[in-house]
Amino acid sequence: MSLQTTLKRSFTLAGITLHSGVISTMTVHPAPANTGINFKRIDLGVPNHQKVIECSINNITSSQLCSSLENMYGHKVSMTEHLLSAFHGLNIDNALIDLNTDELPILDGSSKKIVETIESVGVKELHAAKKSIKILKPFMVGDENSFIKVSPNEQLSIDYTIVYDHSLIKKQNFILDELNEVKYKEMISPSRTFGFEDEVEFLRAQGLIKGGSVDNAIVLSKDGILNDENLRFENEFVRHKVLDLIGDIYLSGMSIVGSVEAYCAGHRRTQEMLKFLMNDSSLSKIQDAISSNSQNPIYDSKEVINYI
Ligand SMILES: [Zn+2]
Repeated sequence: MSLQTTLKRSFTLAGITLHSGVISTMTVHPAPANTGINFKRIDLGVPNHQKVIECSINNITSSQLCSSLENMYGHKVSMTEHLLSAFHGLNIDNALIDLNTDELPILDGSSKKIVETIESVGVKELHAAKKSIKILKPFMVGDENSFIKVSPNEQLSIDYTIVYDHSLIKKQNFILDELNEVKYKEMISPSRTFGFEDEVEFLRAQGLIKGGSVDNAIVLSKDGILNDENLRFENEFVRHKVLDLIGDIYLSGMSIVGSVEAYCAGHRRTQEMLKFLMNDSSLSKIQDAISSNSQNPIYDSKEVINYI
């Protein structure tokens, strides 16, 4: 039987944010079974329950060049994908993240530091069955230029392809036949986010990537990279897209049991896929590790979280 997990103890990570360029501090705490992943904006002077932003498809909100969640009171948290990717990759079901601003720190642009820190504090099992979204029927979002196809499978597998007009990328494909802790840590988590030198000015003019630098992203010049550090993998770019996809699936608060094929996709396409799932209850069911046949639709609201 597969049990839910949480951390053995709390940890804090801090650093500059990619977009707003401020110092952000997040403290990740253990949380009880069946409470899921929740962010808490401790900087806001509002009643406690209004500070909490739950990982849930209903809370996914639009944002540029990252993923964001917004609660019913209009409070947001953005750049969730790398932390959620580490939680998903390491099978963490429950955690409470105190945050002192609206954006998570970018760290080195990958989830490596988060994975190492989670391993140093440890993970513990809880007395409740793990829940996941079991895919029942194949479906697709997007078109031939950019799509995500999802189909039934016995585990989560990911097949990702990207195409960029740059000599270091061109066409890259990565297949993760099964997401597990070892594969995630070794093959995915060190992969950094990336951007193009000739887009920096344009994005900064829009108030984005104010904190971006070679310390937290691979920056591609016309025919190379500006970073002193070499690429960590020859296909680090597509591996990072897999990292983001693993994180964005966890915006739902759960893993998917199914195969996911992504082509030139990104945050928006993954969010579109999750909302497509939410809107058609025949496509999936919530499966728990004991009964394997619960029929709850995935848009069931969770109970109010009393412990926060
Ligand atoms: Zn990313």
